[in-house]
Order: sequence, then C-alpha cells, then structure tokens
Amino acid sequence: MLTQAIELFEGVALRTNPERAIRLLGSLPASMIDAMRRARFRRTMLRAANHSSFYRDQFRKRGIDPRRIDHPSELGDFYTTGDDLRAFGAEQFLTGHADTAFETTGTTSPLPKTIFFSREELATMGRITAIWLYLLGLRRDDRILSAFDCSFWVSPAVLRAGLEYLKCFHVEAGKIDPQLFYERARTYRPTVIFGEPSWMIRLSEIAERYGVWPVKFLWAGGENLSESGRISVEQVWSAPLYLNYGQTESFGALGAECKLKKGYHRNDLYFFFELDNVDAEGYGEVIYTTLARDVMPLIRYRSNDVARLIEEPCECGVFAGRMGKVRARCDEMVVCGMGNVGPWVFDEVLRDISGISSEWQVFIKHESYCDAVELHVETLNGSALPQFRDAVLLNLRNRFPDFWKNHEMRLYELRVIPCTHGTLRNGRKLQRVIDQRDMSR
Ligand SMILES: [Zn+2]
Repeated sequence: MLTQAIELFEGVALRTNPERAIRLLGSLPASMIDAMRRARFRRTMLRAANHSSFYRDQFRKRGIDPRRIDHPSELGDFYTTGDDLRAFGAEQFLTGHADTAFETTGTTSPLPKTIFFSREELATMGRITAIWLYLLGLRRDDRILSAFDCSFWVSPAVLRAGLEYLKCFHVEAGKIDPQLFYERARTYRPTVIFGEPSWMIRLSEIAERYGVWPVKFLWAGGENLSESGRISVEQVWSAPLYLNYGQTESFGALGAECKLKKGYHRNDLYFFFELDNVDAEGYGEVIYTTLARDVMPLIRYRSNDVARLIEEPCECGVFAGRMGKVRARCDEMVVCGMGNVGPWVFDEVLRDISGISSEWQVFIKHESYCDAVELHVETLNGSALPQFRDAVLLNLRNRFPDFWKNHEMRLYELRVIPCTHGTLRNGRKLQRVIDQRDMSR
C-alpha cells in the first residue's frame, strides 16, 4: 500500500516539469525509495518467473522460489549474461508484448544481442533523460544536433523520447563524418551536441581549426573517454562535456554525470546495482537488475564492465548514488575509437592472409587524444609489409564496414606491426587484446 502510494507520487513527479520533478523525487526519504525498489524487484521476479521461459527454468533448476527473494543479492551465484541472451535467444526472456527492439553489437562474439522494449518503457526512459538534461541546463529554447548512430542503437531513440518531453528544436545527423557534420551544423548553430566520445574529439579538432560557435554543453556516451580527451574538447568549445554510461541491455543510461563530473549518478529508481569480484580498491564487475521493465526484464545482468560504486552523497545534492568511470571490460573486449572490438574482429581481419602465423596480439593505446590500434602479427618468411598492410585494410573494409567507417573518419589509427615468428606467446594463453589506455588521466 505504501509502495503504491510512493509509486503514484513518483509517477506524478515525473510528469510535472523537470525542475519540480527533481525537487519532488529528492524530497522522498531514502527508506521510502528503498521500499519502492524492493517492491519493484519482487514484482520483476514474479513476472520473470511467470512469463519468461529462461527465468522460469533457471529458477526451477536452482530451487529458487521467487516469492521468497527480496533483493538480487539473495540469488546466490545466479546471474544473467550476454552469452545467455545469445544462446537462449531474446524471446526466452520476454514477459510482455514488445513494440520495438534494439541491438547491441558483438563483444566477445560477432552475433548481436537483441533486446525488446515497449513504447511505454521508451517514454519513461525519455522522461528520466529529459529531467537529467534539464538539470544540466538544457532548456526549451536550445537547439540540439545529434550525431548518435541510428542503426539499431538505442541511444538516439531514448534521446528523441526525452526531447519530446522538453520540446527543444532537434536535428538528427546520424553518425556522419565529423567534417561533414561540422559544415552542416553551421546552418543550425546547435547549442548542445550529442555524439560518441571519439567522434566528439574529431569534431572538436575540426572546430578548433575552423572556428566555434557558442555551445552550452556537449554530451557523449557509448564508450569511455580519457580525462585529457575531455579537457581538449572542453577547451575548444569553452563548454563542459558530460558523459553518461549505459548499455543497450539497460535501455540507455544507467548513470549520467552531473555538473560536477565526479562519477555517474546512477538511476537508482529503476535499477539495483551490485558489484562482483571486487578487488582491494573496491572495483568489481557491475551487475544490474532492471526494476521497471515489463517486456524483457534482466535479473542480475553481468555488464562485463569494471567500475566502483560510490555511496557518499555528491556535493550537487542529487539523491541518487554514483558509479565511477569504467576501468576495463572483464573480457578482452575493448570499446575504443575503432568501435566495440574483441579478438573475433582481428581473427576475421587476418583471415585468408597468407604469410602469417596464427599468433597475433593487439594493443590499444591512447595518443594525442586519439586511440591507436596496434596489430602485432607474427609473419612467416619475412612477408613484405606494404602488401600485408594493404591486405589487412582490404579485409577491414570488406568485412567490417562500421569499423572501416570509423577509420575513414580518423577516429583511430590502425598500425600493422610484423613480428618474428615465435616471439608473441610467452605463456600458455596469449591475451589477444590488451587495453593500455589510462582513462584516469
Ligand atoms: Zn552530483
């Protein structure tokens, strides 16, 4: 009964203007928010057990009685993984009627993961996004230009839903070449620009050369960004660059920065966050449980991202807890200027090239605000480098149009470095992709 009253209050708060919504939600005592989240979790558990064949089977197999579980931490070693989504298929997770779907591109596998949603969920996430953008200073008279990639990606859809609520002028460029974006943006003189971090850096380099116009802030999401990269963008535009963290599985932002930029404020209303395999510094794999998803809830979903959770209140006064920047991926998957790359990408790029061994290793480096992807490959009989490099580029172009597009946009530099046969592997297992970037600087 109390929970229903709080949810009603929350629903009303979210439908008022953003300023009042933040004030109203912030006025709720922490104990009430916690009670509401637990009630939502219990509802999610029952819904999953009753309607999703994956969860029903898993719970039965493990002897989990969903009626007795009050918090995800009571589920022992049960988790949902990206491999589960691929292996069982998204349909097995469905608990309601889907209106739309988005996809997350391959991480450890070339197979995309499909995630289903309803329009109502899209509208709710849009409202949350709108409230957050308002907090950062976005107002109705702002002009927005977005370069988010519209192909199967959830972020532009969530942004569009949020802007319908804020009713700002909005033009969707899609992820086009930053030079072209820059030229066409001059017509609109956007006060707020949305894009992926490595794309934003290229745009800012162009703007530094050809001139800027007044911008209120820039907003980037979809991959990590070093602090030096952020500063370079902010200096060009004399405006802050805010980051957000999310996954397609979470339906957009799990957290976003406030004006203080000291970690992502988590969306604690709609997710339970946990950490697994926590190290001495408090970093572990981020695990989240969706609390307000009716179509495809995810229970204890392994994000594969390593970060820490921050519970101390932020000086900005917003009630939600925070999450630090993502330090690494749990596997060898790396999100960089090239895109979401993992060992399978380079296996495929090197496939059919003669004169090389099966041993290769990739180092992702960060140099002068741009990612460098160094592909070290063992060659046989001293293969000629120029031919070898051309073959790699040809395969990249033919087999990975998205990564090739980012290469054409100079979002990263690809280096091909031949090595003597037998020099790469010094242990039983060769770590294929090594991220050497330090995102704390
Ligand atoms: Zn804050």
